[in-house]
Amino acid sequence: MVSPSRRTGDSARRLLRALSMLLLFLPLGGCQTSAERVPAASATTSEETPPRQLWEFPVDRVRFDSGVDGARLSHVERIGPSHFRARIDPESWPINPSPWYGFRVASELPARIRIELDFGQTPHRYHPKLSVDGLRWRDADAHEFRENPVRLELSLQAHKPLLVFAQRPVSGDALTEWSRAQAAALGVPLKEFGTSVRGRSLHLFEFGGSDTSEVVLVLGRQHPPETTGSRALMGFVEALAADTDAARAYRHRYRTIVVALLNPDGVAEGLWRGNANARDLNRDWGPFEQPETRALRDALLARSEDDALRLLFAIDFHSTWKDVLYTVADDPALAPGGLLREWIDAMHERFPDRIREEAYAATTSVFKNWVYCTYGAASVTYEVGDETPEPTLQSLSRFAAKALMQLLARKEWSPTPGPDRCPATR
Ligand SMILES: [Zn+2]
Repeated sequence: MVSPSRRTGDSARRLLRALSMLLLFLPLGGCQTSAERVPAASATTSEETPPRQLWEFPVDRVRFDSGVDGARLSHVERIGPSHFRARIDPESWPINPSPWYGFRVASELPARIRIELDFGQTPHRYHPKLSVDGLRWRDADAHEFRENPVRLELSLQAHKPLLVFAQRPVSGDALTEWSRAQAAALGVPLKEFGTSVRGRSLHLFEFGGSDTSEVVLVLGRQHPPETTGSRALMGFVEALAADTDAARAYRHRYRTIVVALLNPDGVAEGLWRGNANARDLNRDWGPFEQPETRALRDALLARSEDDALRLLFAIDFHSTWKDVLYTVADDPALAPGGLLREWIDAMHERFPDRIREEAYAATTSVFKNWVYCTYGAASVTYEVGDETPEPTLQSLSRFAAKALMQLLARKEWSPTPGPDRCPATR
């Protein structure tokens, strides 16, 4: 594979490295101990990671950089006094319209600066989120941005270096640290089950009934921009791992496998959709051409052989415009009395009109279809709204876990039997 960084000359590489090191020492302010911190450029782990960049405009005393984890900024040009156009390119084209952006901007003058964000042929999607320390984030105020169907125009004061991101970041490091902390609290190891295209570790942890083969599988962050999905995943798993009677009874009877981050390269590099090969991982559960999907498939299939793993329920967290549950149209678990039907009904009863439900035939190579077709698991993609407020998102995801535990406690459930679950695709 040709390294992107090798395309630049040696001296250019040295200069960019030096700039990256310099960016490490730019003040971010505040303590950086929270799970939500945005690590600096050192978080990049591979020779092949594209270099972080710096754009300086001495006449306006303004500089932009992409030296923070998860940043995405392709080019900046000056189009007038304190007025800039920032281009944000996707990793491939055509692509799902989720134009992720992220950068740091600093101005030595108190004047407002104007920044037009240009996503090329893709309409903008995310309203800007701002932070001066990478810990506390706020939505940009109405006077700080204007939008038309294709562009965002920001009007910002950046006297202190300001982080401007499409969504409040949930970085790869934050997800790994969260997984490590959950595993430690449960007394189980965080295991590496493979590596990404750029060599980052893929992690899972599993907890609960050591003498059971009945498993609930939780997956997240196949798509880099989908941070609300990550937040919901954390709430869901924390409820399963809680120190309550219901959660202890659940863990006594069932095992849970958690993969919080399947696409660490995409998250680190601020990609819109794909992994470092610019491939959509959630369209690779069939071709299995990418190391991330292959690694998880192999880890699960190895477990199936070792201890006859029975996957009862699988949930894959994503984000989209609104809260939606995607299911498999002919899944018997959706029929009256089935596990998915009862679980979704419980969600609708508790949060009326909040979550849409859509069922499709299992004809695409998405994770949900693969686990259904391979294991007969009740299988769902949980799409969390991009703008679902944090308290709502937490009550929804924690309730989703509690409702599932209640249903699993009530009676014995079985995966769908038979070899003909997906005759059209197998
Ligand atoms: Zn997604």
